[in-house]
Formats: sequence, structure tokens, C-alpha cells
Amino acid sequence: MKFRELETELIEVIERTHNVMSFRFDDRGEVTFRPGQFFQLFLDWEGEELDHWFSFSSSPTEKGFFEFTKKMSESDYSDALRALEPGSRVRIKYPMGKFIYEGEPDRAAFLSGGIGITPIRSICRWLTDTGSKADARVLYSARTPGDFVFLDDFEEMTRRNPNLSLVLSLTDAAPPGDWDCRAGRICSEMVREEIPDYRDRTFFICGPPRMVEGMVGMLKDDLALPAAQIISEDFKGY
Ligand SMILES: Cc1cc2nc3c(=O)[nH]c(=O)nc-3n(C[C@H](O)[C@H](O)[C@H](O)COP(=O)(O)OP(=O)(O)OC[C@H]3O[C@@H](n4cnc5c(N)ncnc54)[C@H](O)[C@@H]3O)c2cc1C
Repeated sequence: MKFRELETELIEVIERTHNVMSFRFDDRGEVTFRPGQFFQLFLDWEGEELDHWFSFSSSPTEKGFFEFTKKMSESDYSDALRALEPGSRVRIKYPMGKFIYEGEPDRAAFLSGGIGITPIRSICRWLTDTGSKADARVLYSARTPGDFVFLDDFEEMTRRNPNLSLVLSLTDAAPPGDWDCRAGRICSEMVREEIPDYRDRTFFICGPPRMVEGMVGMLKDDLALPAAQIISEDFKGY
């Protein structure tokens, strides 16, 4: 597979939560990708070149920029990102991956843990902006209320797109009083209750490797879904 390469510059950094940040870059009018794909970002740091993979958290329908969204850590790579300023130059290799959904087949379910929401946000934005009739149901779990990323965005998308719905679940904290939210990790019982037509849907799962492995096993073993109905992306190296 031959990837394209581009040198571009940072436009803006957006603080999403206490430890998650989005980085927006100029798309130079030439960055094309499909919703759900990822790219490789190269940064210079203390005389070395570092690289990591990131899902696009923006959608191909959002023009003028592309964005990724990272859970920040104490790593050198995170430090190199923190040191970027508007105008800083970076290099990317793109587009990568087969975790793609553009509305076919027309019933989909998305299971996401934590930062694994990034490509799902890209897909949901694409479905909403293109007026897709595909029925998309998202189960999104996070540790605490402050760990959900893109909640405002999902609220706006579900208002605009009657075929998109979102169920939140908290694993390590009680939901605030006025929240409509489940408790605990995503499990087969939750899928049966929240997605009663699960047998008719293609599932897309994204998150840290252990979470993805657990979800794929749950769908295959507990819910007897065939492998052909399960597409997953794990954030290896995470
Ligand atoms: C297809 C794909 C898509 C991905 N998309 C995303 C995405 O959208 N968002 C996202 O956040 N990630 C994504 N990832 C994961 C991403 O590539 C990184 O692996 C991840 O963000 C962790 O990088 P890091 O630099 O924080 O930690 P790494 O350098 O990879 O280190 C891993 C862990 O070690 C710890 N660590 C490393 N160095 C130090 C140090 N010096 N001191 C203390 N602790 C240290 C870090 O805290 C971190 O938890 C994706 C991965 C893949 C394969």
C-alpha cells in the first residue's frame, strides 16, 4: 500500500478534557481520507524523530483542516506535542486503516472505550453532515463524567441526525443526578438491552487493546455474532 506524505502546520490546539487535547492542522486542500481512518504523525524532539499513529477525529466533510485527539501522558511524544505552537511544522503519512464506515450496511453499532471515541466521532460527523439515512447507535463508556470527550459535539449531532443515538456508561463513578447514563463496563446484557436488534447490525469497536479484545470476545461468544459483522481498531502502543 502506498501512502501519501504531507508537510503541514499546526493551526490550533483545543483542550477537550482534563487530559485530552485535539490538534488541528492545515489540510493544504489535499488531505483526503475516509471516516474512521488514521495517519502517522512525525515530530522532531530533542534531535530525534518520533512518530505515533492517530485516528482522524475530524470528518472528511470538515474542510480546511484535519484533527486528531490525544490522551496526553508523560511520554516524550506528549511533551513534543505540548511544545507545538500555531505555525509549527510537522509531517504526516496518510491515509491508513480499514476501520471505515460510510453508511453501508445501513445499520451499525459502535462500542467505544475512553479515547477510542476518536474515529467514531469522525464517522458520526460524516454521517450527520452527509444526511446519511444509516441507523447508527453508539455505546460509549468512560471512567468518570469528566473523561467523556466530544459530548457537546454528540449532543449537537444527535439533535441534527435522527438516525444517530448515543448511550453513555460510567465505569468508575456515579453519574451526576441529571444524567441519563448506564453504570459499568459495556457487556452483553447492556448490548441486548440498548441494541435489541444487535443481530442485524455491523459492530465497530475502538479503544485500548484489552477493551477491544474483550468486546470482540463478548460479541462472538456471548452474543454469537459472526466475525463478518465485527470490525475493530485497537490503539496499539497505548
Ligand atoms: C490505529 C491507531 C490509532 C490511534 N489513535 C489514537 C487516538 O486517536 N488518540 C490517542 O490518544 N491515541 C491513539 N493511538 C495510540 C497512540 O498512537 C499512542 O500509542 C498513545 O497515544 C500513547 O502515546 P504516548 O506518547 O502518550 O505514550 P507512549 O510513548 O506510547 O508510552 C506508553 C505509555 O508509557 C508512558 N510513558 C512513556 N514515556 C514515559 C516517560 N518518559 N515517563 C513516564 N511515563 C512514560 C506513557 O504515560 C504512556 O501511558 C492510536 C494507535 C493506533 C495503532
